[in-house]
Parts: sequence; C-alpha cells; structure tokens
Amino acid sequence: MAHRDYSRFVERLISLSSPCTRIETVGVVDDYPIHRVLLAADRRVDKNILIAGGIHGDEPAGPSAILRFLERDNSPLLQHFKFLILPCINPYGYVRNTRENKRGIDLNRSFEESSIAEIDIIKKAVEGQRFDFCIDFHEDWEAKGVYFYEAQRENRWIGPEITPQIEKIGPIDREMGESDLPIADGVFQTDPEWGNVGFAPYVFHFNADHVMTCETPTSWHMDRRIAAHLTALDVALETLS
Ligand SMILES: [Zn+2]
Repeated sequence: MAHRDYSRFVERLISLSSPCTRIETVGVVDDYPIHRVLLAADRRVDKNILIAGGIHGDEPAGPSAILRFLERDNSPLLQHFKFLILPCINPYGYVRNTRENKRGIDLNRSFEESSIAEIDIIKKAVEGQRFDFCIDFHEDWEAKGVYFYEAQRENRWIGPEITPQIEKIGPIDREMGESDLPIADGVFQTDPEWGNVGFAPYVFHFNADHVMTCETPTSWHMDRRIAAHLTALDVALETLS
C-alpha cells in the first residue's frame, strides 16, 4: 500500500532547479529514480558537505528536512560550502513506509555487500569525492528525544555543540545502550565494530574525516523533526566555517 507520493517529492525537488542547484538522476530502482543534488555557488569553495536522507523508508523526516533545506535561501552558506545531497536513498521504502527496500534489505546494513542496486548507485554517486563533513538524517520510533552518532578522525566532536541548540526544540535522548560509546549526553561514537555496513561508517572509511548520524523521535510532529535535523546541520556548518 502506498503511504507517500514519491512523484510529488520528485516534483518538488525538480522545481528547486536554480543556477546553484544541479539535480541529477543517478539511478533508477524498481521504476523509482534516485537523485543527487549538487548545490554550489562557486566551484572554488573547497569545503565539501554530504547530506543524506531516506535510507530507511519509514523515516521520512530526512527527505523532508532536505527539501526544506533546499527551499530556503542558503546563499550565505554557499560562500563557504558546496553540498552534495542524496535526498531519498530508498524510494520504494519511502512510498510504502518500510525500513527495508523491495527485497527486504536494510540498506543501512548492507554497504559491505555488492549487487544491491541502491547501494551500488549511492557508492557511485560519492565515488572519488572527499567530504569535510557528512550528515545522515534518521528517525527512531522508540526514542524519547534526539541523539547522535559521530565519527571524527581527531576526536574533535561537534555533537556536544549541537545538543544545547536541539534542547531549545525538544529533549535529548540520554538513554545509553550497553554497547554505546558515549561522547556526551545524547552523543555516541560511531562504533568501529559496526564495520562499514552502514552508510555513515562507509563514508567515514572511504570519503570523509567526519560523519554524523542524526536520530529524531518519530513521535514528534514532522515540523519539529525537520527543525531538529536542520538545527544539527546548521550548528555543524557554523562550527566548520
Ligand atoms: Zn534509520
């Protein structure tokens, strides 16, 4: 059963075409196009940022936050940064509100495998690129607040800068799992033991020195989840600029 209209999502995305925005179809899976957006005002700007959403189809706040980001005026940011954006990695799941793709595969656990269409497309979309920072937007159906996973080569964390700003929107989830590696309240280290099966660890291994996964509670209203994602992104960019 269709929960969400992907063609409307794509329409909104395509309508954002501008001199600074290049929207490319990087592949098609089960008749759904997967896009990559390049947002840059000046190619000489050397700070490169990767933003991703929708790898889990039942977590629509990521794709929505990305649309909201692209719809606002980012010209001050474009003096410092260029962006590569993957707005919706798992369109099949997005439409049907399933975590997995059509074949029942959790794409965020499958980056060490080959011949998975969405994964091959995403790997190719970032291949050979270097990012100063990558943020991947998720939701957690059980969380009571926002929390983060972060990996940075020199342990220069920005999660602790972000959480006080998030608390203006809603609570941080301070609960800690047995295997969590805490950096601060609501900020955990991306566990090296996960290997490269997830998107963020994969990007950290091959394409970036700094990655972050942002988890917002599904129980929050969509606007609040979007605000939390964009606050995390904005604080991160402020710290990086
Ligand atoms: Zn997720």
